[in-house]
Order: sequence, then structure tokens, then C-alpha cells
Amino acid sequence: MPRISESQIQAQYDFMSRVREINSHRGRLAAYIKTFGCQQNEADSEELAGMLTLMGYDIENDAENADIILINTCAVREHAESKAMSIAGRFKLLKAKKPDMIIGVCGCMVTQEGVSANLKEKYPYVDILFGTSELWRMPEILYTRLSTGKRVFEPGKGRYSDIAEGLPSVRSDRYRAYISVMYGCDNFCTYCVVPHVRGRERSREREAVLADVRKAVSEGAREITLLGQNVNSYGHGLYEDYDFADLLRDVCAADGDFTVRFMTSHPKDMTDRLISVMAAEPKVSKALHLPLQSGSDRVLRAMNRVYKRDDYLALVSRIRAAMPDIALTTDIIVGFPGETEEDFLDTVDIVKRVKYDNIYSFIYSPRRGTPAADMEQLPYEIKVDRYQRLIAVQSEMELAFNRGLEGSTIEVLVEGRSKTDTDKLTGRTERGKLVHFSGPDCLIGQRIGVRITHAETFALYGELLDTSLNGSAL
Ligand code: SAH
Ligand code: SF4
Repeated sequence: MPRISESQIQAQYDFMSRVREINSHRGRLAAYIKTFGCQQNEADSEELAGMLTLMGYDIENDAENADIILINTCAVREHAESKAMSIAGRFKLLKAKKPDMIIGVCGCMVTQEGVSANLKEKYPYVDILFGTSELWRMPEILYTRLSTGKRVFEPGKGRYSDIAEGLPSVRSDRYRAYISVMYGCDNFCTYCVVPHVRGRERSREREAVLADVRKAVSEGAREITLLGQNVNSYGHGLYEDYDFADLLRDVCAADGDFTVRFMTSHPKDMTDRLISVMAAEPKVSKALHLPLQSGSDRVLRAMNRVYKRDDYLALVSRIRAAMPDIALTTDIIVGFPGETEEDFLDTVDIVKRVKYDNIYSFIYSPRRGTPAADMEQLPYEIKVDRYQRLIAVQSEMELAFNRGLEGSTIEVLVEGRSKTDTDKLTGRTERGKLVHFSGPDCLIGQRIGVRITHAETFALYGELLDTSLNGSAL
């Protein structure tokens, strides 16, 4: 698998030094990164933050006083695109007050045909733009902008097979680390823009992944999430006899007190070997995100998902036989072109049978350049109605499940103060459920026992066990 050469990466470090030099007389400089979309984008933003930090910028949560703003966009649904564009409009006003401010747009949206040219013409206040394949060149792009005063637009094309190793990264969460194991996707589901904007599937070398895991753990990460559009096809085209199950086992063998998750898994690549490694390794969280997309064979075929509803249900049975308490979550698209009421009810039927811990449901959004965008579309009202009905079914089941937890004691990884009520701490259970409870700051980053006193659909409320305060976790 071609890697971007060490000398090319070194050249970017040189550009970072040059930007730092240009900035050296400007006093304290702040950077703000707005990230849309999936965890891969979050991980990319952490690399952007790493590079900006080396260039002398402090990463802040405040766009108002920033000297550089980067908008890392998503193209998966139209909604994410319009949100990115409306936020870019807001930043225009900030720039009017602070003309030296640099505004950059990057991520999946800018890689789509025509988007870069459109932004160049209609958004004159956007200074730099770079596609996902050009992210590692951000220092060079920023340097060119600062040294010439010219706008630099590099949406990128044709470099998708290359992997950039050795870029700096600043993690946004001390206790959680997102580590990419592969990039791109070759599955070409007919609704999805990802293969078009992230390019062909390619895996990182195992040593590079394992080094990142060891580093994150040594820096205090308690939860590692291995990332990829299709993690369980890891290794294809790179190794003959080493796959995601092997990688997962090797990650777990790293020293330290941490747990491991991974996403996203395609059902077609969920091997029995992977299921047994998951079941056997105590460090693997017993939680799995397994996108269903639809419960109808007809729709699955039109989506090019390759499996049938019975294959999916049989897979769930095998997973539950190996790990009876596993928490399953899924992605579902409603209103795919041609979906009938009967097809939709097939999806609801699977949701009822599998009893997911959580579902991420989406109204189908036509994406330019994908086959499904050219099929006959359903009226919007039908899509919204199905979406609401699906959510209602799931919410009712989740509430019943959560109520069943009242009175029990659950292990929670404490994340920090609750955003809505700072008197309370917030954490997540291994199943990914949010738990709010009162407690001191010293518990942040620890795994502790919480007794659940009250349950709602989207959150649990509880109280600390006395032993948790003495530092002894469950
Ligand atoms: N690689 C992952 C995630 C891809 S995008 C996977 O295969 O599961 C995340 C989710 O967005 C998808 O699982 C799908 O449910 C949803 N999605 C993708 N394209 C979409 C579209 N055009 N309209 C609505 N939802 C979409
Ligand atoms: Fe998109 Fe399908 Fe690839 Fe997931 S597997 S990224 S849904 S094409």
C-alpha cells in the first residue's frame, strides 16, 4: 500500500516551522475547528489540531476570537452540507470584524464535483480549501496563503491510495482515543457518497496502528476506538493472512488498563473468527455497531448491501450466542427509493426482533453521483412519517429496557461535568448509555459503580456507590 514518503511528510513539518516563523510576531494566536459528520472526521480534526498547534495556534472552542477557522465538512446527507454552508455564512460576519482571520473549508463535501469551484466563486471570504486526500498538506496550503496572500483551493484528486503516517495529533478527549485502521470504502452501497469522497479502501500497517494504541494508552486513554468505514475488512490488499480479528487481538495485547471498541462493521465481513476474538478478549467492549440499513430483501438488494434479512438475523444470533449480553446498535435508512409500506414494516420487524440498544435512523437523502439519486424518489411526507414511526417503536423499547435497569448498579466511565447540569457528572456505561449523577471532579476518567435511581429514554440517572468515592471501582 503506497505511503506518502517520509521526505514529503518532513516537508510539511518544515512548512509548519515556516508558518510558526511568520506568526511569531503576531502574539498569541487561536484556532477553532468545527467538525461535522463521523468519527473519521473527528480523528482528521485531531490531526488538523496537531498541525495547528505546532504552527503556534492554541486550539479553542470559541470561533469569535479565532485567527484561523477550519470547517471540516460531511457529505453523507444533505442536511450536514447545508449546516456547514450556513455556519460558513456566520463566520463571514466574524471575518468582517477581523480581516486577518483565515477561513478554511475541508472534508468530504469539498471533494465532490463542482463544490470547490462553487465555493471559490460564491464564498470569497473562504481563504483555503482542501479535500480529504490533501489534509496532510494543510501546513503547505496555509503557508502559501500566508506568504502570498492568495486563496489556495486544493480539492484533491487521484491521490486516494496513499496513506500519510507521522502527522502530529492533539486528542480532543483525554480518555477516549479514536485510531484509524483503514480509510476509504469499496462497497459502493447505492445511496452512499463515501466511496466517492474518501476513495478506495486501504489499510494502515499494523505496526503503525499498534504504535498509536500504545501511545494513546500511555497518555491516559481508557477507551480505544478503532476506526474505519468498514473496519472488519481491515488488511485486504495489504496482508494475506492477517485480518481485523488478528489486529483486534494484538491491540488487546498492549499493556494497560483500557477497553477497545471498533466501528463501523459491515455485516458481510463479520467473521466467526472476529466474533470469537471479541468474546474471548476481556478488553473488548461487549458492544457492536452493526448497520442494518433496511429489513427488506428487496431494498437491501437495491442498496447493494449484499446480505439478506435472514443472513443478518442469523449473524445476530451467532453474535448473541457467543456474547449473550452484547449491546447492539445499528444504522437504518428510511424512505430509500421504491421502499413500500411492506418493506418498511420488514425493517420495523427486525428492529423489534433484535431489540437494539440504540438505532441511528436517517431519512434517505439523494446524493449526486450515486445510483440511488437517479431512481424514482418517494414523497418527503412518506419518508418523514416512516422515520417518526420507526423512532417511536425504538423509543418505547429503549425506555422499557432502561426502566429495567432501575435499582441496579452499573459500571460507568466518567467523562466530565454534564453539559446541561454542571452540578452533575456524566459518564457512559459499557453499553454506551449516558448516566448522570452527583460526584466530585476527581472521578473524571475513572470507572466507577453507579446505582441507577431513575431511567428515561435517552439517559439514566443515579447515585454513587460509597465504595466509588474510596477509589475502588466495581
Ligand atoms: N461505513 C459506515 C458508515 C457510513 S455513513 C457503514 O457502512 O455503516 C453512516 C450512515 O449514514 C450509514 O450507515 C447510513 O445509514 C447513513 N447514510 C449514508 N448515506 C446516506 C444517504 N444518502 N441518506 C441517508 N442516510 C445515509
Ligand atoms: Fe457507504 Fe456502504 Fe461504504 Fe458504508 S459500506 S461507507 S454505507 S458505501
